[in-house]
Amino acid sequence: MNVLKKCILSSFILVFFFTIIPAVHAAEGQMYLVNVDTIELKDAPKSNANVIGNLIEGDKLTTFEEHNGWVKTFFRGEAAWVLENNLQAIYLNDEGELASEKSSQSYKAITAEGGLINLPSETAKLDSPNLKSASMEITRNQKNNLSGYHFIVDAGHGGKDGGAMAKKMKEKDLTLSTAKLLAEELKEEGAAVTLSRKDDTYISLDNRTIISNSSDADAFISVHYNANKNPKAAGISTFYHSSKHSKLANKIQNALVIATSMNDRGTKQANYKVLRSNRKPAVLLELGFITNPDELDKIKSITYQKNAAESIVEGIKKYFLENY
Ligand SMILES: [Zn+2]
Repeated sequence: MNVLKKCILSSFILVFFFTIIPAVHAAEGQMYLVNVDTIELKDAPKSNANVIGNLIEGDKLTTFEEHNGWVKTFFRGEAAWVLENNLQAIYLNDEGELASEKSSQSYKAITAEGGLINLPSETAKLDSPNLKSASMEITRNQKNNLSGYHFIVDAGHGGKDGGAMAKKMKEKDLTLSTAKLLAEELKEEGAAVTLSRKDDTYISLDNRTIISNSSDADAFISVHYNANKNPKAAGISTFYHSSKHSKLANKIQNALVIATSMNDRGTKQANYKVLRSNRKPAVLLELGFITNPDELDKIKSITYQKNAAESIVEGIKKYFLENY
């Protein structure tokens, strides 16, 4: 094909898309861009609804319904509501917008099953039958660190509450040093971190959940060490309350078991207060048995705690970063 023909053809294609796309979008839903640091996705169109995720600046979403100032989209296969006034409407018939859309590498959309489909361009996005059946629409900023995310790291026990104890080793001390290492690892990934306690003070379970629920955190990670009458009891387990958060628990548990070679006690649903009253995705980690002499030698070492912290971050990244 000669150059002139190519020029004519591409001009025709551009004119065609500028003409056709706004009409298609009007029928399919309104596109929005997140232009504030972070906003919450809720499971219902009201401010006291459960938080099921967060969007960060640069994320795009398409909405399908409006209700009292809230707009509905889909996230990890669930209906999700966002306050409309935190969003900036975008239109593809604007020349600048279309240019910036096209400069993105590829679009990743989360399907109803929670998987990803790669969309090579905005055009394919509109034409894709997969996407329509998936009824999804959030495209996240492509990145491989945790910048823009905020985590509550909760060191179990503290002050008058020592937690489990064996051979003069107190759980509250092990949880604090591990929580601090975890906070450091998360900050290295660009995340903001709030520690529920930074020293040996008593914080009630209510206050721990208040810290979480009153924040814009993306997840709450509670660090504990286990105890059992049987000194042979060993290994790591991860607990969650809402089944919505079992996936986060699984990702962290898997990463921990692989990196530490500890016994895998699995993930379990549990009715712990800090999980039950938490409106953020919340997990409680039991990182080994203080009552098992072999395991105690291991878990009291900074090497083990740092390894555990790194693998918790690995699990968090596998959960939150779609293309990680
Ligand atoms: Zn504990």
